[in-house]
Amino acid sequence: MKLIIARISHETNTFSPLKTPISSFSPAWGAQAKVAAEGSATAMGAFLDFAKTRDAIVATPVFATAYPSGIVCDDAFEQMANAVILAVQGGCDGILLDLHGAMVTESYDDGEGELLDRLRRLAPSVPIGVALDLHANISRRLVANADIVIGFRTYPHVDMYETGERVARLFARLLDGESHVRNTFCHIPLLASTLCMDTRTPGAMKRALDAAREMERKDKILAVSVFGGFPLADIPDAGMSVVVVSESVPVGEAAAEAIAREIWAARASLIYEEESLITSIQRALSLPFSKGPVLLLDHGDNCMSGGTCDTMHVLKKALEMGTTSVLAGPIADPQAVAFMATAGVTWHLIMRMPIQSFQRVAPALNLITGT
Ligand SMILES: [Zn+2]
Repeated sequence: MKLIIARISHETNTFSPLKTPISSFSPAWGAQAKVAAEGSATAMGAFLDFAKTRDAIVATPVFATAYPSGIVCDDAFEQMANAVILAVQGGCDGILLDLHGAMVTESYDDGEGELLDRLRRLAPSVPIGVALDLHANISRRLVANADIVIGFRTYPHVDMYETGERVARLFARLLDGESHVRNTFCHIPLLASTLCMDTRTPGAMKRALDAAREMERKDKILAVSVFGGFPLADIPDAGMSVVVVSESVPVGEAAAEAIAREIWAARASLIYEEESLITSIQRALSLPFSKGPVLLLDHGDNCMSGGTCDTMHVLKKALEMGTTSVLAGPIADPQAVAFMATAGVTWHLIMRMPIQSFQRVAPALNLITGT
């Protein structure tokens, strides 16, 4: 038995002005991809462990992950997609992919859907299992061109490997000849805020995930995934969705719609109501200094959501309103950083800090020196 196992992962913020080249993925190819994935807390790590239990021959065309950022350059996508296509052209009995689900390229709004469409056309009878991030923007094309689609259950994400295991468990049934496993899907026209998707605290997202676990106990239902979607993507498929892997299309569709309706009914709680910047800074100023540093986070420029980390609105307003002892960062603006380094601005700010404050923020200093 031969399995093709690969990872291509990117969450694309289409509002970023910076494109994402292949170098941002630090891709490992072929044997090096296997080395990179083995033992990692990724779905691909779980896929490789599964392959061992089957004594399968494994081809690992690519292991590639970029931090969230702007639209993926066409040549980057083609290099990674072609690596997988070439491996499948060599023949295989199954394909296991560790994808994100929110990749937008220069030519395709739905990078994963495009990749899976190409693979399905190339190898129509080969089973395809896919693990996705909870923030995937699921398209009908993606779901239609894979046999098993399962997403993370946690945010913050701590179950990447376990998601791979869940995909592999169902994938084993396909390899053993079961042919009645089907994906069904319900898109919810709702751009929920990622700030409302914490799965550790009570709320609509946790309730939906609990309902999904409950649904999985029902007859013919094999896996239920709730996707929060990634709202910083100006594409038709952006938003929440539910994907059900089942042994019956009508049963799967009914399950997906039932959970989607619950989410829709709770939609008001999935919108983040933020206070004004001035109110936030006033609140920060009113806190006693002895309680420790106050963090003012500009979520609109969140580097882990593809923000460019070069907006100064929060810092500017904070300084205007009289804050002192300010440490700002990360700042990913080469010209600004070079200017500050020349001017000694960073050290000037640090030297003005009371020593106990400096000690608290010292571990974060690499954020500045590293950008
Ligand atoms: Zn995510």
